[in-house]
Amino acid sequence: MADLDLRGISKSFGDVSVLDDISLRVPDGGFAILLGPSGCGKSTLLRIIAGLEQQSSGDVLIGGESVGGLSPRDRDIAMVFQSYALYPHLTVRDNLAFGLKMRKESSQVIAARIQDAADLLAIADLLDRKPKELSGGQRQRVAMGRAIVRKPKLFLFDEPLSNLDTQLRTSMRIELKKLHRRLGATIVYVTHDQVEAMTLGDTIAILDRGKIRQIGSPSHIYNNPADPFVARFIGNPGMNLLDGTVTRQSGACVFSSGKLIVRLPPLKSSLPIEHVPRTVLGIRPEDIVLAPSGRPEISVTGQVEMVEDLGADRTLHVLLGDQRVLVRVAQGPRVEANAEATLYFPHNRLHLFVDDRRADWG
Ligand code: ADP
Ligand code: MG
Repeated sequence: MADLDLRGISKSFGDVSVLDDISLRVPDGGFAILLGPSGCGKSTLLRIIAGLEQQSSGDVLIGGESVGGLSPRDRDIAMVFQSYALYPHLTVRDNLAFGLKMRKESSQVIAARIQDAADLLAIADLLDRKPKELSGGQRQRVAMGRAIVRKPKLFLFDEPLSNLDTQLRTSMRIELKKLHRRLGATIVYVTHDQVEAMTLGDTIAILDRGKIRQIGSPSHIYNNPADPFVARFIGNPGMNLLDGTVTRQSGACVFSSGKLIVRLPPLKSSLPIEHVPRTVLGIRPEDIVLAPSGRPEISVTGQVEMVEDLGADRTLHVLLGDQRVLVRVAQGPRVEANAEATLYFPHNRLHLFVDDRRADWG
């Protein structure tokens, strides 16, 4: 195993910039997630790490050494894709053995590694089957097995679970997490699914159009999103973002957005926010409190447009003038569509974004 250090990686195809100055460190044994919407450059970055694509500038270091001069096979990296890319005419055993035979490992070593990986992944009874005789989840396990038997320095996963149904995805996610713990492997895992990112990674790097928006632990990113893009991308549903303006009223800052008026806690920096034309107030759907009416100084009343019942909780879509706010409430008294709802925004759960950047409270 080894650590990975990406230093200022940029990539253009022709004159189209796809990656812009990406720097990221993954410690030995770390589980890093590249999270971002489709087309933001995740696969391109993985391919650059693997040596399948050449960066326009920047450097990739594995175990402290630049791999710039090394071919993909000399980088000692194993990659697992969304399409399992198994050899259809080979049995599971031969699929697992393939890369090791290419590397001229002895047949004893090959047999032992296959046995270990098969036990670890619970596929020992499938070794003599062909890929077409396997379910999607079993195929994905074989694809992982093929990576594991190589004992590489680094594992790269490119959306490996996105072809699986929801239930299987959940169970594979848990297995992958256990596997990481047992192998102590260094992993870079690409996904567009924020649930996978939050549950699997110890570090998440959020990409948008080839740029890193934020790097941090799942809880840091959830609690301190750097900008409105990250705030919206993390969480299900994502954070409510309300456009408004901030004014100072007898020393305090007040955010207003249509009929919503919120007194803000004091800010850490002395931002000249009254001169910023646009500020965004954020609050997560799970942080809004459904309050009894009659607390006008801290609450706002809107109309319930729709109720999504998810069993364990409900998501209310509430219209505050022309802005829609989602509110996640645990089971309790029923709220029906078209009813009025009084919402309370706790101060310590508010996020403020000024000029697209997070502003912290004092
Ligand atoms: P993601 O994996 O995040 O969905 P990709 O890394 O596959 O994104 O692609 C990022 C962008 O780079 C996309 O706009 C894609 O069209 C473009 N791209 C990827 N590979 C090539 C290529 N070989 N030539 C030109 N453009 C490419
Ligand atoms: Mg991709």
